Amino acid sequence: MTAPQNAPDWLLHDELSPDVDNDPLAPMYEGSARGELVLPFCTSCLLPLDLEQPVCDGCGSLECVWRVVAPVGTVHSSTVMHRAEPGLVRIDDPYPIIDVELASGHRLIMTTLESTQLPLPIDAPVRVAFRNLGKIAVPAAQPTAPAETEASS
Ligand SMILES: [Zn+2]
Repeated sequence: MTAPQNAPDWLLHDELSPDVDNDPLAPMYEGSARGELVLPFCTSCLLPLDLEQPVCDGCGSLECVWRVVAPVGTVHSSTVMHRAEPGLVRIDDPYPIIDVELASGHRLIMTTLESTQLPLPIDAPVRVAFRNLGKIAVPAAQPTAPAETEASS
């Protein structure tokens, strides 16, 4: 079910690929390139942080540490985007945007690994895989059966 390496992304043009070297999310992109989901935690109290969250809500620390987390979660909310941005979005069809609540406690907005116009139901289990956007891998949701989420692969 993984997209072939080097195939163009189904949704976005490759030019939108971020410049990883100068991006504060570089640790996440580097992890994604290895097929690992890497997200920030507070260095002091280990609270899961939002991407680019400068200050911990729990203890006020300004430092974060990036760690590999389990690439599993559930759909917190989802919507279908009907506005296509010419030059940015490769397709004319609507596409899903999903707010995934990860088992690690993080929340991450992403689309699906493969093109679909079906909205994902709230609480549906998902596995996080990676889309290739130019030379960058970015997290993308893959619906799973509940049993599959628990299985070790
Ligand atoms: Zn903290």
